[in-house]
Amino acid sequence: MTPVARTVGFKPGERNIFFHILTACNLSCRHCYINPAQHGSETLALATIERWLEQFVAPGETGNVIFLGGEPTLHPDLAAAVAHAKGLGFCVTVDSNGYLFHDFLHRTSPDLLDYLSFSLDGPDPGVNDPLRGSGVFATCVGNIRKAVEMGFRTSLIYTVSSRNLLHLERMVPLLGELGIKKFFIQVIGLRGRSAGPTAGEHALQVSRDKWLAVVPAVAAMAAAQGIQVTYPKVFIERDEIFECAGRVAENYFIFPNGRVYQCPLCEDHPINAWRIEGDRLVKNAGLREDRLFTLDIPEGCVMNKLLQPDTIDYGGDGRPAHKISCCLLKQEIG
Ligand code: SF4
Ligand code: SF4
Repeated sequence: MTPVARTVGFKPGERNIFFHILTACNLSCRHCYINPAQHGSETLALATIERWLEQFVAPGETGNVIFLGGEPTLHPDLAAAVAHAKGLGFCVTVDSNGYLFHDFLHRTSPDLLDYLSFSLDGPDPGVNDPLRGSGVFATCVGNIRKAVEMGFRTSLIYTVSSRNLLHLERMVPLLGELGIKKFFIQVIGLRGRSAGPTAGEHALQVSRDKWLAVVPAVAAMAAAQGIQVTYPKVFIERDEIFECAGRVAENYFIFPNGRVYQCPLCEDHPINAWRIEGDRLVKNAGLREDRLFTLDIPEGCVMNKLLQPDTIDYGGDGRPAHKISCCLLKQEIG
């Protein structure tokens, strides 16, 4: 039977903690969204990471912690942070660019780390390395093989841009060969470096038609091989229900300067709803992202309308032809 994609609704009572423990990175990817002017350049001490994590423990709720950077394995105490998060009851993921510094695989274990996620943006060095850096494909694939051999559950993140959309299909045999369990297809955002002058005018963006022509079909191919595939919904029809995760879900995007956002599209602006101060999670007052979440507009996502209005097509009646979904709303197949 051909697998069919389903929309994954936001789950009440589940917390997702996206924890950027540093912003330093050994790479300089074309589409990097890290913005040290807004996110800080500190490397958080292990004791700080532990105290901040404890702020997000909620009795009776399940939670996922995703350690991010920068490159989180540049942190010498990442393995200890993973163990602490696991001890607090979280399901733990590390998102790495594949370099796995500080002998990370040998300092943690598949019992503590639920998923080790690798970022790769092409099925070969010719596609991946111009986007992520020379030699990155070989290093990342080599470390995926090591991780799989050692029994780690691995996932792979592919950020779709105009430079690699047409190569997505060739990822399917590679995923099978590497033993990847989950495949996350992301869409390039207008944040960080991809929004800057060096990116060129929308040089990396992908149109709705091109996205729909490629991504769902490739996702179905990977799912047919037994791989679980997740990709953003991006576009929803006029009559479909729109939900803003900022209103109905519990997502926290934590940065080393103490800013805590609920919406990733807001991260380039000092409008974070929360902050960590004195190791306590504190709600910010005033005009913040959470005030924007409450606005109902026919275009769907308010932040998308503010930041990238030319992603929206309008019909002859002046109404949007489709709505832009919350960037956190996913389709899942497999
Ligand atoms: S996208 Fe990730 S791996 Fe690439 S430069 Fe940015 S933080 Fe580093
Ligand atoms: S992406 Fe849009 S819909 Fe999703 S949380 Fe942010 S403002 Fe809300």
